[in-house]
Amino acid sequence: MARYTGSVCKMCRREGCKLFLKGEKCLSKGCPQERRPTAPGQHGSARKKATAYSAQLREKQKAKRAYGLLEKQFRMYYDRAEKMRGVTGENMLILIERRLDNVVYRMCIGSSRAQSRQLVNHGHITVNGQTVNIPSYLVKEGDVIAVKDTKKEKAFFVELKGAKIANLPKWLSFDTETLTGKVESLPTREDVDLTIAEHMIVELYSK
Ligand code: SF4
Repeated sequence: MARYTGSVCKMCRREGCKLFLKGEKCLSKGCPQERRPTAPGQHGSARKKATAYSAQLREKQKAKRAYGLLEKQFRMYYDRAEKMRGVTGENMLILIERRLDNVVYRMCIGSSRAQSRQLVNHGHITVNGQTVNIPSYLVKEGDVIAVKDTKKEKAFFVELKGAKIANLPKWLSFDTETLTGKVESLPTREDVDLTIAEHMIVELYSK
């Protein structure tokens, strides 16, 4: 699968906000978005006139980059959301929020969505007792998400045991002793912790 291999911090600087792509570094003073909050490149600090199209494009790029999705995958969520009842933009974000890699991140098992995706890819995570190594798996209400029993003694997961979790969303629960969590309910738009104007993405795609 194609993937972006450049500097992820440049993405934050391009979007003009913190996308929290680097785990602990994002909370430190070394965060490049805090030290140099201008777009990357020679003309990054130059003033540019924003058009309606460029504003819509930036919102789409911000959402894609925050969740680590490429265009084809992201468009697929839009197409699916368009066929659902309700507000297309909200449905799209809720669908993406339900991805297993995002759930592992929101449970603080992985420190970033990229790391969480790797944990899923490498078969460290189970859903209802079965190993699931597909990051795009959409969780359902009542699903039990856990670290695989045979992996729990790995140093990475031992460090996690007993840790306090900050900002666990209300639609999820997670026990750091057993490294097991549950999808208590499906997320709503309010549970998406990113500042995204999803209506602008819908406007862009529906042209
Ligand atoms: Fe973005 Fe994190 Fe890099 Fe800061 S450290 S620029 S928040 S990825």
